[in-house]
Amino acid sequence: MRILVTGGAGFIGSHLCERLIADGGEVICLDNFFTGRKANIEHLLTHPRFELVRHDVTEPILLEVDQIYNLACPASPVHYQYNPIKTVKTNVMGTINMLGLAKRVKARILQASTSEVYGDPIQHPQVESYWGNVNPIGLRSCYDEGKRVAETLMMDYHRQSSVDTRIVRIFNTYGTRMLENDGRVVSNFIVQALRGEKLTIYGDGTQTRSFCYVSDLVEGLVRLMNTEADDIHLPVNIGNPGEFTMKELAEKIGETLGRKLEIEYLPLPQDDPKQRQPNIERAKKLLGWEPKVPLAEGLKKTVEYFGKSVNADAASGNR
Ligand code: NAD
Ligand code: UDP
Repeated sequence: MRILVTGGAGFIGSHLCERLIADGGEVICLDNFFTGRKANIEHLLTHPRFELVRHDVTEPILLEVDQIYNLACPASPVHYQYNPIKTVKTNVMGTINMLGLAKRVKARILQASTSEVYGDPIQHPQVESYWGNVNPIGLRSCYDEGKRVAETLMMDYHRQSSVDTRIVRIFNTYGTRMLENDGRVVSNFIVQALRGEKLTIYGDGTQTRSFCYVSDLVEGLVRLMNTEADDIHLPVNIGNPGEFTMKELAEKIGETLGRKLEIEYLPLPQDDPKQRQPNIERAKKLLGWEPKVPLAEGLKKTVEYFGKSVNADAASGNR
């Protein structure tokens, strides 16, 4: 099986490449290194079934593959808002290019969508049938609407051109290999705590998120890609239903480190969703999938990971 992973040098993509190699796949990792790094996949570079291609998905490419995981897109608000037009292009032109490739070589394609398609949700927890509450003109729209168009494209290529498609709506995922400057809440809090800085809570910290450890997510992606069912082309939520406020998350990180952490309250960014929790009944029924790693365990692994890089930075005087 020849498998293309776009965004393969990123946080989730690198874990996915590793898993696919372990399963016996021949993996092509494609990345433009915007938020990805070679270090994430360095250990795979010499593997005979692994190949790295530096390429931007907004440009077409022809490769012979059987499956495509289309993960290419910055995921952190800080990074996807850095160049919002590029974020839209990556989601729209990138997805068209990957769907065109899938159509041409008759590959199955899985699109990484997001819980952000639900926007600031009025329905809670979020079920796949909910259409969402998204601001089309806000600072998050380049990502949210970009992903919504990517879903539309997947469905239209499936209906019009019979492309074998899968759509996964990923909820907040965390773990090893996130960037220190990723900007998302779990990595921010852990890096701040390890540096002895105050934890930056945006708003009053009562907004909620549901955090899935990366190994659980990767298991869900692989299962979805390799499952067949009549309604398999419709979106599937993958996430951990354990829901926490940002204040609770800060406390959990304090418990992991065994000390009380100081908090600094900063303004809430525009359109920041107030609550988010996946309904995962569809994934359970369709894929026999549910998350296994509780937050405390996942945080411990992530703290250990960042502990090494933050200590190394401190030793070299590099931040
Ligand atoms: P990430 O930023 O670590 O990884 C994204 C990867 O895509 C990076 O390696 C980056 O260099 C690459 N990339 C970006 N634009 C590209 C382009 N135009 N061409 C080629 N490569 C490009 O983020 P992640 O958390 O690993 O997210 C992976 C995917 O999962 C994204 O599509 C994201 O939208 C989706 N997702 C992630 C989460 C999460 O919580 N981590 C939640 C929902 C959806
Ligand atoms: N957040 C925070 N402090 C930070 C980074 C994020 O309080 O240093 C908040 C953010 O406002 C949001 C939540 O944490 O309410 C999750 O943010 P993240 O960027 O991780 O994910 P997303 O908002 O895309 O779900």
